[in-house]
Amino acid sequence: MSKTPIIPLVSSKPKELADLISCVKQYNPEADTSLIEKAYLFSEEVHKGQKRSSGESYFHHPIEVAFIIAELRLDTVTVATALLHDTVEDTVATLPQIEEQFGPEIAALVDGVTKISQISFQTSEEKQAENFRKMVFAMAKDLRVILVKLADRTHNMRTLQHLRPDKQARIAQETLDIYAPLANRLGLSAMKRELEDLSLRYSKPEIYYKLVSQVSKKLKERDQYTNDVLAMIEGALQEHGYHNSNVTGRPKHFYSIHKKMEKRNLTFEQVYDLTGFRIVLGTVEQCYGALGLIHSLWTPVPGRFKDYIAIPKANFYQSLHTTVVGPGGEKIEIQIRTQQMHETAERGIAAHWAYKEGKNISAETSKFSWLNRLVEWNKDLQDPNEFLETVKLDLFSEDVYIFTPKGKVIEFPQGATPLDFAYTIHTDLGHHCIGAKVNGRMVSLKYKLKSGDTVEVLTSPNQTPHKDWLKLVKTSRAKSKIRQFIKVQEHERSMATGEMLLEKELKKEDLKLKSLIKEGIIQKGVEAFSLKSVDDLLSAIGYGKLSPKKVMSRLPLPSKEKEVAEAKETKELKETKRPLQKIVEEASKKSTTRQVVKVKGIEDLLVHFARCCSPVPGDSVVGFITRGRGISVHTRKCPKIFDSDPHRLIDIEWDTTTATERAVKIRVICEDRPGLLADMSGVIKDQDANITRAQIGTTKDKKALCLFSISIKNLNHLSKIISAIEGISGVLRAERVQKKDR
Ligand code: MN
Repeated sequence: MSKTPIIPLVSSKPKELADLISCVKQYNPEADTSLIEKAYLFSEEVHKGQKRSSGESYFHHPIEVAFIIAELRLDTVTVATALLHDTVEDTVATLPQIEEQFGPEIAALVDGVTKISQISFQTSEEKQAENFRKMVFAMAKDLRVILVKLADRTHNMRTLQHLRPDKQARIAQETLDIYAPLANRLGLSAMKRELEDLSLRYSKPEIYYKLVSQVSKKLKERDQYTNDVLAMIEGALQEHGYHNSNVTGRPKHFYSIHKKMEKRNLTFEQVYDLTGFRIVLGTVEQCYGALGLIHSLWTPVPGRFKDYIAIPKANFYQSLHTTVVGPGGEKIEIQIRTQQMHETAERGIAAHWAYKEGKNISAETSKFSWLNRLVEWNKDLQDPNEFLETVKLDLFSEDVYIFTPKGKVIEFPQGATPLDFAYTIHTDLGHHCIGAKVNGRMVSLKYKLKSGDTVEVLTSPNQTPHKDWLKLVKTSRAKSKIRQFIKVQEHERSMATGEMLLEKELKKEDLKLKSLIKEGIIQKGVEAFSLKSVDDLLSAIGYGKLSPKKVMSRLPLPSKEKEVAEAKETKELKETKRPLQKIVEEASKKSTTRQVVKVKGIEDLLVHFARCCSPVPGDSVVGFITRGRGISVHTRKCPKIFDSDPHRLIDIEWDTTTATERAVKIRVICEDRPGLLADMSGVIKDQDANITRAQIGTTKDKKALCLFSISIKNLNHLSKIISAIEGISGVLRAERVQKKDR
């Protein structure tokens, strides 16, 4: 898998120089090549006698770096800098000498590269941060410094096999951490891919070589498939008059396959798209036209289309991306772009400024707004560590970096929400979070945080975590905190339910739970079932793990007389509310359902109406004791009730003393005649009921179908409304919708 082979240097200097010059002349015919020649000869002279670890002449290295720079089609000054980049650091040559020979511009560039080369990213974190700051500073002064440094690193990576394994691993890691993201940020995607693949090869050789063999085997197998897809795309383009198109299928680079496997926890076999297809066309219009063509040929995979032409990436990358279900049902990725976009995609910033001599570099640099921001931060931030945090912000774009109101930077995975942020700061902040202000603007809990956002959490003392929150958060910390809260809450609720059930059963024997707890009799039950506490016993009953009868069978219950004797004493206890009751009370307050059903002898119940049958006052109802969510009210006819555990059913009745309104749905089928709707709403109003929602449609046989949501007082009220509607001429049928349809 060696990349550019190392050309043996058999004192063929003139040829090397001639090659380099002809390479530059290809893209810049008017180049002043005397500068390159002068730099070449100077570098050769001062590097004389030096050897690289490979044993070959050291001078070979600056030549290769110069070739990489020429491949990026940069100006002659940068090519010359590449040739000279190691002279000050590694030879007797001095900076004043360079300046004297080549002028201040090249001297400044060489100085910049030298300084960056002295940066070691392996020292203490603090030093690393400081080094990073220097690098960005150098970069801001002249981006060409970074480009030469990247070219230098690329050649060093290509020849890394000559170093000791420990050095290989260190340099590979550093490349992966810093230089590959930097190349990506500057839009040098070809270089980025090469740096990543080489880094993987030296940092995780086992993985790399395994991948290489797997990929080559699979690509061979898929050769026919790839060719078929290429032929189909080309055929379709030709047929529709896109004659200047260039369609290619390229294997994805190893590192991206490796990352995909790691990130999504896939095996090699599960990574389907080893080949990406690319269509390069003449104009933007053709790109969108070709996209339509591809989508008519194969079904696009929803959510995978990205329009980077309309909205370019920060590094100027432009392209249309789509994934379609190709032949044989296999997903294939396709990129569509113009030739110019392709240039930018491969060479990044270099494509934008290229060889144009004397062009204002700062003007070009300013296009890279992220770079400007880095420079700004560099000025403002005094603490190198803080600076590193900030720099990372843009180099590692897969994570988002969020500012606290005090300016601290916190890293989050993509898709994180204000809840993740709140839980990171403090658990209580998370529990009570109702939303956030992002950059001063109110956002909901669903808002997805973006890099650079300043987030201020909004809280309310009444807010508590909800199960649905688990779907909103990305960080494991937030998830575990929410789960923990819900668990405690469910435990408390099931304790309350258990208490109620046991009390109910004890009452049949004229016994009181409170007294039994006081006398330590319940404690015997706790021991009998090897539980830890009375709370746990009650919770077990509430969860339905133990039935009250079973618990009672294991209690040394006193005679009824004794209980009566103690009744007085118990009265006193009633004054002070036990925490359990408080919990139930609070839960009832929070619950949106008003207290409209009664359970004999018990107050303060957490009640909600089952959505399957939506009972209304007057319906014959039954309660079902849920696990941790109080009691759900069903109609006696509800099919769900027949399937449920009869031990968990409880008798309830409507509390006729509380006036209440319940929402029901009514379905009306009628003739499709004008004015009928007005008639119906009039009738409903006459019956003193509110319509909260109305939906009108027509059936296949030209009948009108109306769906009303109305709030009613009770069953009697409802039947009056229904018969009133049915009394309207043109109405064929009116009925209550019992099940949640659709
Ligand atoms: Mn070098």
